[in-house]
Amino acid sequence: MKTAFIYSDDFAKFSYGPRHPLKPFRLKLTYELIKAYCLLSLPNMRLIEPKPAEDEDLLLFHARDYIEVLKDVDHGIDVEDAESYGLGYGDNPVFEGVYEWSGLVTGASLQAAELVDSGEVGIAFNISGGLHHGQASRASGFCYVNDPVIVISSLLKRGRRVAYIDIDVHHSDGVQEAFYRSDKVLTISIHESGRHLFPGTGFEDEIGAGAGKGYSVNVPLPFSADDELFVFAFDSVVPPLVEKFRPDIVVSQLGVDSFVTDPIAHLNCTTNGFSKIVGRIKEVSPKWVALGGGGYEITNPAKAWTLAWAIMNDIEPPDELPESFLKEYPLEGFRSGRLRDKEYVLGGIEKETMRKEVEKVMINLRKRLL
Ligand SMILES: [Zn+2]
Repeated sequence: MKTAFIYSDDFAKFSYGPRHPLKPFRLKLTYELIKAYCLLSLPNMRLIEPKPAEDEDLLLFHARDYIEVLKDVDHGIDVEDAESYGLGYGDNPVFEGVYEWSGLVTGASLQAAELVDSGEVGIAFNISGGLHHGQASRASGFCYVNDPVIVISSLLKRGRRVAYIDIDVHHSDGVQEAFYRSDKVLTISIHESGRHLFPGTGFEDEIGAGAGKGYSVNVPLPFSADDELFVFAFDSVVPPLVEKFRPDIVVSQLGVDSFVTDPIAHLNCTTNGFSKIVGRIKEVSPKWVALGGGGYEITNPAKAWTLAWAIMNDIEPPDELPESFLKEYPLEGFRSGRLRDKEYVLGGIEKETMRKEVEKVMINLRKRLL
């Protein structure tokens, strides 16, 4: 299987600000760890420098006035109603290069899709992508431009059937909304329940509308769910539905903010459950465009996406982190010196209650979908 890794040194030149949880530097950290494991010089892989997306690409989903505003604020122009576009406070600050950043991330995702759809490679990975909350006319949840929606729209224009699998801890509301009435895209999102977490949507009764009824699938997980429950939910839903749908291509969002050490959500997952799921996505994908996603303890994306890239290339990397890398990046999250997290399995009554809740969600979903 030929693979492609899409990366630009420019990713890390952007900053949402010192107190913002999304640190583009995590992308450089991931790249450096993958490189230290010698996984960027494999015989069947290509390392691709992305080109920024054109406005025309962004307009596949976004409203022209929103894109113009994004450009204006990026150029330092004071836009009076920027807040009505979700810009300029809290989650979505107007930082230097915000339009450039969004275009580069989206361009990288489009290149991944182009390489895979043309058959040049079977799998392409853009770790900067997966900004799944972006809305047509507003920024949301750290996402200004919704690259998964743009990638899927570009594939639909070529007549492809697309399955979108999202394992980020947050519901992929932007992607769901874009294709809620379409039977050409199957969207599956497994996430922490919207009862406790942004964006407050993604319940099992959100199954699509009109022609799209049955093509939007949501698995909300209870507060504190661990690897075992996450993998159970994934196995119960994803392989049967994807097999039935028969996509030409799978687009996945591989967020790692479901991890126990993540500071902004409440699940208890680790690299162990994540690796199992990445392996399963590989099994069900005829062709695969893999995108990054959330992950706010910056060593988690580095470790998890190194493992994901290894799985994409059928390699089992050693567990000891390379010494040269540890010397260069002596961060708390690398203190164990290991690539893989320790198993983290909950038990007792708390787990039984959670298991029952997940089983109830599965029964509801089966009634509606399977
Ligand atoms: Zn997230």
